[in-house]
Amino acid sequence: MPRFYVDPSQIGTDRIVLGGGEYNHIKNVLRKQVGDTLLICDGEGREYECSVDSYGDGEVMLRIDSVKEGKTELSVHMTLFQGLPKKDKMELIIEKAVELGACEVVPVACIRSVAKMGDEKREDKKIARWNAIAEAAAKQSGRGVIPVVKDLMKFPEAMRFAKEHCDMILFPYENAEGMNTLRNCVSKMWPGARIGVFIGPEGGFDPDEVALAKNAGAEIVSLGRRILRTETAGLTMLSYLMIEAEMAEVQS
Ligand code: SAH
Repeated sequence: MPRFYVDPSQIGTDRIVLGGGEYNHIKNVLRKQVGDTLLICDGEGREYECSVDSYGDGEVMLRIDSVKEGKTELSVHMTLFQGLPKKDKMELIIEKAVELGACEVVPVACIRSVAKMGDEKREDKKIARWNAIAEAAAKQSGRGVIPVVKDLMKFPEAMRFAKEHCDMILFPYENAEGMNTLRNCVSKMWPGARIGVFIGPEGGFDPDEVALAKNAGAEIVSLGRRILRTETAGLTMLSYLMIEAEMAEVQS
C-alpha cells in the first residue's frame, strides 16, 4: 500500500485532508479512485489505513479506516554521530543508516576531518539535501518515523549532546582491543534505550577526542582486527545493533 508521511496536525479524528503535492500524487500519479486505500504515517510511529473518500478542488479527503502503531521501528533509538567524511560519502551513509533503523544522524566536525562544509549558506543547503535523502530512505524502507539529520556539530559539542541525550555511547576505535566491551554493552541494551554511535572520519579520531569520549563515559569498542573505512564502520555497528534489537524482540 502506498505510504505517505504527513504532519500530525493534518490528521483529524476520522478524516485527513491533503492538498498540494500529496493531492497531485494520489490523484494524478497513483490514480487512486474513491474507495482505494493508502497508508498515512504521522512520522511519530502511528499508521492510519485510509480510503479515498472524495476529491475536492485541489484536495483529497481520506477516511481513516483504522489506526495502529507502526511495526517497523526498532525497540532502541540509535543516533549516528558521523565524523564528516570526504566527497559525497555522507549521502550513502545517511541512506543506509536510515535503512538500518537509525533515528538521527549528527554530522560531526572532527580534528582530522579533511572535508569542510563551506559557508553557512552551503552548509544549510547540504543539511537540507541530507534530510531529503533521509526522508526518501525512510519512505523506501517503510520507516514509521522520518529520521532527522541535525546541523553540523564540532566534536566536543557532539559529545556533550550525546552525554545529555544517550543512555549509552559506543565509540568504535581501531586501537581498541577485544570484543568483550561491545558484547557487554549490547547485552545490556533494553527496549527504549538511546544509543549513540560515534564514527571517526577517514583520518580517524585524534587522541584528544578519544580522551574526551572516555571522560564522557563512552564505551571504546573494537569492530574487529581490520581497519574499516569510515562508511563501513558506522554501517557495521548499526547493522549489528539492528540485528541484536530485532532478535531480542523475537525472543521476548
Ligand atoms: N585512522 C585510521 C582509520 C580510520 S577509519 C587509519 O587511517 O588507519 C574511520 C573510523 O572507523 C575510525 O575512526 C573508527 O571510528 C572506525 N573504525 C574503523 N575500523 C575500526 C575497527 N576495526 N574497530 C573499531 N572502529 C573502527
